[in-house]
Amino acid sequence: MNIRETLQRKTRYIMWFGFISWLGLMVSLFLKLSTLFIVFFLPFPAVALAQSLFVRCPRCGGNVGLLVAQALAPGRFKTKVSNCPFCGVSFDAEV
Ligand SMILES: [Zn+2]
Repeated sequence: MNIRETLQRKTRYIMWFGFISWLGLMVSLFLKLSTLFIVFFLPFPAVALAQSLFVRCPRCGGNVGLLVAQALAPGRFKTKVSNCPFCGVSFDAEV
């Protein structure tokens, strides 16, 4: 498994957590359940924080979370990233 796959797998787990929280938030808004709204609203800042704190370059520990999230973004938001901006290791290298 290479660095790109490792980072993308972590990012996908975090994004699915955010998506499920968003779905719960929409359901709580639709059903007008304020307690459930708070429970599902709190994960949004946690998702951004987790993406910044836990998705790091395995070689240098640089924060590449937001960069990897942009690489997985759809359409015009997508960014092509091939190297770590901090240490220069290729994301196609083995972990
Ligand atoms: Zn690095």
